[in-house]
Amino acid sequence: MALTLNEIQDFKGKYPKQLWYLFFSEMWERFCFYGMRGMLTIFMVDRLFMDDKTANLKYGAIQAFVYAFTFVGGLFADKILGFRKSLFWGGTMMILGNFIIALFATEFAFYLGICFTIIGTGFFKPNISTMVGKLYKEGDSRRDAGFGLFYSGINAGALLGGVLMVYVGKFHSWSIAFALAGIVMIVSLVIFVFTQRSLGPIGLSPMLEKVPDQRRKMYEWLTYAGTIAAIPLIMILLRNTRYTDMFMYIIGPVTLLYLFYEIFRSNPEERKKLWAGLIFIIFSVFFWAFFEQSGGSLSLFALNNLHDSLLGLTIDPNVVNNSSNSVFVILFSPLIGLLWVWMSRRKIEPNSGMKFGLGFLFLAAAFLVFYATVFFADASGKTSLDIFTLAYLIITIGELCLSPIGLSLMTKLAPDRMQGLMMGMWFLASAYGQYVAGLFGAEMSIGKDASAMDKLISYTNGYKDLGIYALIAGIVLIALSPLLRRLMGNVR
Ligand code: GLN
Repeated sequence: MALTLNEIQDFKGKYPKQLWYLFFSEMWERFCFYGMRGMLTIFMVDRLFMDDKTANLKYGAIQAFVYAFTFVGGLFADKILGFRKSLFWGGTMMILGNFIIALFATEFAFYLGICFTIIGTGFFKPNISTMVGKLYKEGDSRRDAGFGLFYSGINAGALLGGVLMVYVGKFHSWSIAFALAGIVMIVSLVIFVFTQRSLGPIGLSPMLEKVPDQRRKMYEWLTYAGTIAAIPLIMILLRNTRYTDMFMYIIGPVTLLYLFYEIFRSNPEERKKLWAGLIFIIFSVFFWAFFEQSGGSLSLFALNNLHDSLLGLTIDPNVVNNSSNSVFVILFSPLIGLLWVWMSRRKIEPNSGMKFGLGFLFLAAAFLVFYATVFFADASGKTSLDIFTLAYLIITIGELCLSPIGLSLMTKLAPDRMQGLMMGMWFLASAYGQYVAGLFGAEMSIGKDASAMDKLISYTNGYKDLGIYALIAGIVLIALSPLLRRLMGNVR
């Protein structure tokens, strides 16, 4: 017997059991995603013989594209497919993408495979997150903690994938590494398929009861066909960086216009919540623009300016740069989730605007600590890995105040018919964050041949500026939090 929504949402204890299924499905998807992300630049240079600059530009474009297509995935889930079929379709595309690269490993196959992954992630990522929100009743104070746990799964996958896939790719073969990503993605889908019955009515097609079966099926097939037809188009956009820029200039404004259209169609209550959602989304662009220095300027900083000793143990600073964030998320996310539950019982839990503001204050503190590494440098321009890692700890606490809360908020603020769309917009903001992160990073960098000391000074000065901007953003957000609270109505 299929469960009803009420039975699912009336769960006892801290977490619904379905959360664990989604947790593992998403964990393996992120394994595949972060594994690919970790391999991309090296693969392009090593296998496709691109120069560093082209590879970096392509990396940025691919990252931005992956998150940009979440908007499309969210929209089609809301209108036609529902979250479950979207997720299945997205996962299938990701599997195909990885196997295409694994089997052929030519430049053409690489772009083709990446396009499959871009669309696939677009259909998978926002919709699995939205389903987490559906496990909770309106006003259930356990929701943020649930997203916190889900976020640990994300990072467990990210950590495993980032380490294992890069290792296999670098020391065995790139083809095996991509094949591994494909296999892992199959595991993700198998988990989903075998547990989806427990989701009851959650994630079924929105057309199910409204549109005759045959017509619904036609729309579904048209969506599948449309996604495949879009692949050559994305390939053209991706191969030419100028088009990528153009795409980024266009997609944001277009989606915003669409959102405005939806906002004005909504009733006043919904409208206020959607405005609040939009404010959170806009701030998140800046958060990610700062945060994503980790894949860019901070990895160069780790390469050139850090000692290789962490708490007395020898370790490669780039390994620390690539993995400490995930490790800290896994360690601290459950604790922070419990802290929110504890505070809510005592009626002292900060509201979401405040949590976002806190996220920025931690972000600011972290960048000021990155800046402070300059005071611990020796004459060769190398500085303390311990302090660098401390900054990662602080930035992670900031992330935990903002990112899982943001996911949770999207599911609280969007009316039912727009859940996928809003989640898609949340991730689209990440696409812009990635994009702006590259611009910030380029702004901070100096010539390749500059001395380590000059690089240190240039980067740390950049981090000081970012720290100050983040501080200002945090203060503005906290000042805005009463307004946000009013807009959000009964949502906390
Ligand atoms: N690290 C998180 C994830 O992979 C958040 C990413 C983002 O929104 N930029 O889901």
